Amino acid sequence: MENKNLKSLNTFAIDCVAKEFVEFNSQEDFEKIDKVYKESQRVHILAGGSNTIFLNKEYQGTIIKIENKGKKIISDEVDSVAVEVSAGENWAEFVRWACLNGYSGLENLAAIPGQVGASPVQNIGAYGMQVADRILWVEVHNMKTSDNYRIMNADCEFDYRFSRWKTSHKEELIYKVVFLLDKIFQPKLDYAAIKSYLEENKVNPITPIKMCDIVTKIRDSKLPNPEILPNAGSFFKNPTISQEQFEDLKQRFPQIVSFSQQDTIKLSAAWLIEQCGFKGERYNCVGMHAKQALVMVNYGGATGKDVLEMANLVKEKVQEKFGVMLEIEAHLIG
Ligand SMILES: Cc1cc2nc3c(=O)[nH]c(=O)nc-3n(C[C@H](O)[C@H](O)[C@H](O)COP(=O)(O)OP(=O)(O)OC[C@H]3O[C@@H](n4cnc5c(N)ncnc54)[C@H](O)[C@@H]3O)c2cc1C
Repeated sequence: MENKNLKSLNTFAIDCVAKEFVEFNSQEDFEKIDKVYKESQRVHILAGGSNTIFLNKEYQGTIIKIENKGKKIISDEVDSVAVEVSAGENWAEFVRWACLNGYSGLENLAAIPGQVGASPVQNIGAYGMQVADRILWVEVHNMKTSDNYRIMNADCEFDYRFSRWKTSHKEELIYKVVFLLDKIFQPKLDYAAIKSYLEENKVNPITPIKMCDIVTKIRDSKLPNPEILPNAGSFFKNPTISQEQFEDLKQRFPQIVSFSQQDTIKLSAAWLIEQCGFKGERYNCVGMHAKQALVMVNYGGATGKDVLEMANLVKEKVQEKFGVMLEIEAHLIG
């Protein structure tokens, strides 16, 4: 298809037209997409479009839209199951299905927008969980060589909001992901928002599906719904700094919000942005959300230029005040 408008296919609702657009519906489409990959000037794989910001009014290449569906249990043990899920499945629906069946390990990642195949790309995480801890392997199709192969977890280069696909290996189309889930539930309750919800609401016993519902409720109360106020979730990553730099900042800003890791410290990007006065601030058609300063929102008609200018304003101010460089989490597609 030529000249496809992508506005309804990205949650930031940027009005962008793709020169060419093809769907990947099943493994029978490998030949078709290999041809597209070889013949197009450039290609971009689009899943749910919830972490993607198109910077221009036109995308001068081919969009490959992931649409393959299906899931099956490939191993069933006493205390665990391995589930193979097609990339085009909706992430939130898959997590809910797993929880309803009593399979746990992903419940704190409930209600994250997007597709299953995108989940390893930035190693999605929330409420103390990250998907990397549940992925056994990822099945990919290499559009350059036409080979299919398996990338085992240890080779995915998983890190905080990072994997081998975040900045490179763009010729690899992920078509299936295999997850290892538990049958014996060990809830992860250390996150403050979950703890206080459980205390206030006296939930007992806690089951995977109850956790899934709790996380969904907490998220709904905190994050803007992209269908009402278009956004791409957290716009910046939480920056990681050294212990030494943290000690210095802590002296100057005793209220600084941080999470300690092994030998480094992760700062709350939302707190840094809020302290610079951007919470609820608007710039042209975009702004940093009034309830969650880390989320950039589109008030209608936003362009890539608005997004980049607002992002630069925030980055410069945070750098000036705290000496910390923010890094954009969303995928910017030029
Ligand atoms: C309201 C809101 C809340 C969010 N909350 C969270 C959160 O709590 N935690 C979190 O980690 N993220 C969060 N996000 C970000 C986003 O939901 C995730 O990054 C999600 O995994 C993106 O999925 P998607 O299908 O929309 O991917 P897209 O935006 O379509 O794609 C993202 C990237 O992955 C690549 N890609 C996608 N599918 C494939 C594939 N099959 N093969 C190869 N490459 C592929 C794309 O090319 C692109 O580079 C949030 C977003 C929103 C809008």
